[in-house]
Amino acid sequence: MPTDPSQLAAASVRTLAPYVPGKPIEELAREYGIKDIIKLASNENPLGPGAKARAAIAAASTEIGLYPDGGGFALKQALARKLGCAADGITLGNGSNDVLVMLAETFLTQGVEAVYSQYAFAVYPIAVQATGATARVAPALPESHPMALGHDLDAMAALVNDRTRLVFVANPNNPTGTWVEAAPLKQFIAGLPANVIVVVDEAYIEYAQDGGFPDTSRWLQEFPNLVVVRTFSKAYGLAGLRVGYALSSPAIAALLNRVRQAFNVNSIALAAAVAALDDAEHLRQSAKLNRDGMQQLEAGLDQMKVRHYPSRGNFVLVDCARPVGPVYESMLRQGVIVRPVGNYQLPTHLRLTIGTHSQNERMLSALRQALGS
Ligand code: PMP
Repeated sequence: MPTDPSQLAAASVRTLAPYVPGKPIEELAREYGIKDIIKLASNENPLGPGAKARAAIAAASTEIGLYPDGGGFALKQALARKLGCAADGITLGNGSNDVLVMLAETFLTQGVEAVYSQYAFAVYPIAVQATGATARVAPALPESHPMALGHDLDAMAALVNDRTRLVFVANPNNPTGTWVEAAPLKQFIAGLPANVIVVVDEAYIEYAQDGGFPDTSRWLQEFPNLVVVRTFSKAYGLAGLRVGYALSSPAIAALLNRVRQAFNVNSIALAAAVAALDDAEHLRQSAKLNRDGMQQLEAGLDQMKVRHYPSRGNFVLVDCARPVGPVYESMLRQGVIVRPVGNYQLPTHLRLTIGTHSQNERMLSALRQALGS
């Protein structure tokens, strides 16, 4: 009798629950035999990439017989110029997910700990657990708090001890949309022991930049234990190409480079990201579409009397006040894919990605019909 491979897996992997992605459009089409589907389930930019990135993708596609530049020289230079950071403090990843995993692999092992908040982005628990390290999960801010379900930085600080190696802060957080302001975040980082690495995940920062939102890339000199993680998957519209990055001290970047796969970012993604950085107009348009869409969604949800949480991302968390399975299912049948978040222990909530004006209309009307309101 063949051995059950799960008996052979590392203990930390045996009990791991895999990441649950948004339902792909093709899968819904296959399963339900419907056409004209919109997917507002994975916080993608409804505009996709801008013209400059599209042109770079077409040009780079002629060179894919060769390996990419494993050091990502041109993209690091472009990022360093744009952000005013040192190029040797930049680590490129196959999406920022890859960077988060590299951080876990580099700093975590059995016997040490990582801290994050309840409802924090689902990749943190997976990346931490896979290393055999222990996750310490701080309770989120209560429903009664203006930043309900958001990170409670005091509760997180209280879990830090001499076994802590990494602390993850998602700002804004997915799936809650909640955020932390500059002053409390700075105080939190300053209060951590210098030998604890704090990872601030700013996947949505390009959407969040007004109103005193912290840009922690400016704090790197002050805090050598800070790592800022960003991506081209969201506002830059390059989710399918997989490119993200970490900003850190050169010493941390050198450690991450030891576990980084040799050619982790492909050549088309590298070229597209360089071009996207040079397309401020597309970024501005994307942010404006998102601001307008957020207003549209919030107004529609208010009209339906559906509770929604404040968000600085390109998505809104809503509480349907009932088990959300049938609501999700009804929306699927109407050709609208959104994201149930039962995997976050939020069984009555849905996360709605902001789309174009007409996509938002359609999502709101599908939700209205699903709720019978
Ligand atoms: N961080 C956060 C907070 C996210 O929401 C996501 C995407 N869902 C990621 C990181 C990873 O995105 P990517 O790997 O596409 O950069």
